Amino acid sequence: MILTLKTGTSRQEADKVIKKVKKLGYRPHVSRGVDVTIIGMIGERAERYRDVFEAMDAVDHISEIEKPYKLASREFHRDNSVIRIKGLEIGGPKIVVMAGPCAVESMGVTLDIARKVKAAGVSVFRGGAFKPRSSPYTFQGLGEKGLKYLSQVRKRTGLLCVSEAMAVDQVKLVGKYCDIIQIGARNVQNYDLLKEAGRQRKPVLLKRGMSTTIKELLLSAEYIMSQGNYKVMLCERGIRTFEDSTRFTLDLNAVPVLKKLSHLPVIVDPSHGIGIREYVGVMAKASVAAGADGLIIEVHPKPEEALSDGPQSLLPSQFERLMDELRKVASAVGREI
Ligand code: PEP
Ligand code: MN
Repeated sequence: MILTLKTGTSRQEADKVIKKVKKLGYRPHVSRGVDVTIIGMIGERAERYRDVFEAMDAVDHISEIEKPYKLASREFHRDNSVIRIKGLEIGGPKIVVMAGPCAVESMGVTLDIARKVKAAGVSVFRGGAFKPRSSPYTFQGLGEKGLKYLSQVRKRTGLLCVSEAMAVDQVKLVGKYCDIIQIGARNVQNYDLLKEAGRQRKPVLLKRGMSTTIKELLLSAEYIMSQGNYKVMLCERGIRTFEDSTRFTLDLNAVPVLKKLSHLPVIVDPSHGIGIREYVGVMAKASVAAGADGLIIEVHPKPEEALSDGPQSLLPSQFERLMDELRKVASAVGREI
């Protein structure tokens, strides 16, 4: 439930309302605008206390969020949420590109890719240290050693970095070395993992599952936010359909739909979404045209030797050219990269 206070309500009067919210066992989320203060009552069945707040002088009007996800909904926060990490803004007018290998392999290869993507204009480096592989016999990632490589990359290049946590006990660890914690498609409904990510203060890149509806994705975001971490990015990375000419079907419908339903930044992963190098660029451009706030793209200098997802990884030279094209598409839709 959202309580909008009267224009010009004093801080003291607003505090009284906040105190009442707390007393009834709810968590207040307060947005203080220039003229108007808005208080979100976080918790179950807040509407039963509607009368209590209607009777308070400071309250101008009360609205209810009918969607099952509340904090993630556009009703809760009308403007786009902007996530700020050390000077970088995600969800603002600038489109943020994240790029790097699927998995962190050796220090040498990782640093080489990082330098190349940085030169192409990237601000966030991606690389998995804990890899959710379909087969238990394939490379599972370097674990903490991989995270240490990422923190070296961070130090030596100044790039921010994002990496996946697959289990509850990996969340703090990834947060220790990286700037953004990724929750992968296969874990989008691992509720304990979501809650643990919600207890951190690091931003979370939440990937849509391959069989997750948009509503379920938003409910997963709600799990994270319900624990107090509002820095969530939603990531479309392809869903499973009857189509088998590509790895997954990149659901670009999700971009405008998510932007309408939610205030959270929307990132698109065309690499996993289509899964074939040759098509990644065109889908990246389509994602920008569709209104994505960011992209996450896999890049590898020797894809044939990559320990995971080589077939969908772009060569650094292809990535560099793509960045130039993306800039043009971005400017055509009134954005910037
Ligand atoms: C990845 O980013 O390398 C990854 C495993 O992604 P997803 O969870 O979308 O499959
Ligand atoms: Mn991958």
